[in-house]
Order: sequence, then C-alpha cells, then structure tokens
Amino acid sequence: MAKLEKIALIMPKGAIYRFKENNTPDSITIPALVSLIPKELNIKVEVYDETIEKIEKESINADIVVISALTSTINRAYTYADYFRSKGVSVVIGGVHATFNPDEVSEHADSVICGIAIHTFPQLLKDYKADKMQKIYKQGDIDFRNMPFPDRNAYVEKNVNSEDINGIQATYGCKNVCEFCVQPYVCNGCHQRPIEDVINEIKQIKSGFLEFYDPNLFQDAEYAYKLCEAMIPLKKQWGTPANIHVSTNKELLEVASKSGLIAVLVGFESVNQKSLLKINKGFNRVSDFSEAVRRFQNHNISVFGSFVFGLDENDINIFQETYDFLQQVPINMPRFTINTPFPGTPFYKKMKEENRIIEDNWAMYDCSHVVIQPANMSPEDLQQGFYELCNAVYENRPDTNLHHYYKKLPDYTRDVVIDCSDI
Ligand code: SF4
Repeated sequence: MAKLEKIALIMPKGAIYRFKENNTPDSITIPALVSLIPKELNIKVEVYDETIEKIEKESINADIVVISALTSTINRAYTYADYFRSKGVSVVIGGVHATFNPDEVSEHADSVICGIAIHTFPQLLKDYKADKMQKIYKQGDIDFRNMPFPDRNAYVEKNVNSEDINGIQATYGCKNVCEFCVQPYVCNGCHQRPIEDVINEIKQIKSGFLEFYDPNLFQDAEYAYKLCEAMIPLKKQWGTPANIHVSTNKELLEVASKSGLIAVLVGFESVNQKSLLKINKGFNRVSDFSEAVRRFQNHNISVFGSFVFGLDENDINIFQETYDFLQQVPINMPRFTINTPFPGTPFYKKMKEENRIIEDNWAMYDCSHVVIQPANMSPEDLQQGFYELCNAVYENRPDTNLHHYYKKLPDYTRDVVIDCSDI
C-alpha cells in the first residue's frame, strides 16, 4: 500500500489571469476536485491556485501533486510537474489539454486524467493507494445524477470567502459544432443534471449572484425553461453563455428574466456572414444581431458579446466593420479574441493539415496572440488589427478595467508569454 496522506492540488496561471485585480478564483475546478476525494481515504488536501497567489513550490510537501491545466497553462503545469517528479513526488495532470493530448502530457506526469474526472479521480486515488495507478484514465459513462457539490470552502485558508465561489454547471457539452470550439467533444456528448440536483446545489450557494459555466445552457429549451421556473423562488441573479436564439423564444426569455438572469455572454463571433457559415456557425445571422440584443436588454439582461478575428473569410476590413457594428448595436460589453486552433477541434485538424500552424508553444494559445497563418491577411496585420480594435473600443469604456488589459497587451511579447522562469 502506497502512502497517501496528503494531496496538493495546483492550478497554474495563464494569460487570462494577467490582469486579474481580485483574489477570487475564476473556476470551480479545485472545489470540484476537493469534493471528489473519497472521505474514507482520510487524505489532507492543500490547495495552490496561481490565479490568486504566488506558489512557493519548495514549500509543498505532498504524496501526490494533482495539476489541472488548460492549453495556455500547460507549460507551467509541465514546469511544476517536472520539478515535483524530480523530487520523487507522483504527479497527475488533468484538464482540457490533457483530454486531447494524453501522450504529450504523459511525458510529464505519472498519470493523466482525460475528460470529466467525476469517476476517474476518486478511482485514481484508490488505485494509487493500492499501488496500481494507471498511466491514463479516460472518462467512461458518467452518471450525472447526484454529482457531489463542489466544496466551496476549498479556499478558506486563502482568505477567499466561500460566498465568492459562485460558479455552477447544470449541463455539459454542446450539440452545435462550431469549428473552433472544444465543447462538442470534451465530455462525450451533451449531458444534463437533474434540475432538482441543480436547485439543491444553488440553495447551498451563499452568493446572491450565480455564474453558470454551461457552454450552451439554453440549447434544450424545455430543460432550460424548467430550470428557470424552479429558480424563481430562490431569488438569485445569474449570468450564463447563451446563443441569440434564446432572444426569439418569448416564453423562455421571460421565465429566464423572472428567474434572475441579468447577463448573457453571446458568441456573435463575426459581423461577416460568410465567415460564420465557414465555421459552422451559420445559425448565427448577422441580420438578427441587433434585434437579439434589443430583446435581451428589454428584459433587463445585459449582453456581453464575443467576436473572433482571423477567420478565413476575414480580411483586414473586418476590424473597421466590427468597430462600425459596435457603434450601431449597443452591446453592453464586447470581448475580442484571435481565432486559436485548440487541440481536439476541427479547426486544429484543418490548420495541421494545411500546414498553417506558425507557433507551437502552447503558452501562446491565449486567444490574444496569432498562432496560425491567416487566409486573407498577414499574421502581423491580424495581430496589429486586433490590438488597434481593442484600444479603439475600450478607450471609450473607462468604466471597466478592460482598457488597462488591452492597452498592455502589446507588452506581452512571445518572450514574456512563454517565460516560466518565475516558477
Ligand atoms: S461556440 Fe457555443 S454554440 Fe458553438 S459549439 Fe461551442 S458552445 Fe456550442
């Protein structure tokens, strides 16, 4: 029997945390992992989250180190992993990058968790203790009923109020197949938790505002309607990603608003219809965008809108076209990204096949840097156009900290972004 008295859970930071101004974790991954540790194993858990703190790796003393990483944070995960393995500590890596690159990740880890860890993580710990930990754990069929609720006290020793851990997820996966998105593939299809389970979890969340992490919560209108209806008596406010079709479903929009929905993040992606068709997102019609925004706002729902640049139909005019669109359509908060080929997506496969990947350092896959050869402009024009649009749009929005964020982006040169020497 292997000694398993203490686990260290590590969340490395990445680009998206560069300008973070509070010490609130942005994900519920660590609380979810803590809740999956079998009580009968009697293991002490320590949490290290680089998104809210500096980690002194030398002070970590555990039998297993478990690291959860995205593609843009995987290099930091490897740096931590290599250090701990050099000290004889077993390392487990999971997360979306591991899910699609288990062989690469295996080079830095004693075990890799692919997909949702709800059944595999507890099994891994039991296997470790029995000296039979496997090299790779793949997600099998998952029972989404009675999922353990994330341990919202996981960060108490970091002075993070459990009230601030307000993320929740009711559904997994997406039935659409937008070219750049991992959601259709990352958890073997689409899954829904029983509404009763979700409501019971919400009742335990102290915060008055809930952040739903579902990729496409409203895709099953009947499920979404029932969930919203059940949330009304809870008197919470909430936000979620959503697509524009919700705005045309009057009953759903009304019940969502009544249940406390106050913000949606809509993936408009582009103001160029041909681009949307090319990325399998033709269901988004540019001609509907303005009316969709109006309908949400008429129900007191703010619209955060995301737009992606570097799509194959884009030329350099796309930046001005987007700027003009935003002058006409009062999206509450636009957000911009550069099209990035994440492993596991059709877009990654296509870029590989067309030999258009120009950057292979994963740290640069932060959606703010160009990593492919665009079809209709140079990489430099794409990068510059992105910076200029961000500055032009955000300089008039001093109400958000985003203008600081985007102004500083050009300082994040390749040398800075890929640097892990602070670990
Ligand atoms: S971008 Fe949104 S709608 Fe498209 S596949 Fe991803 S989650 Fe689904």
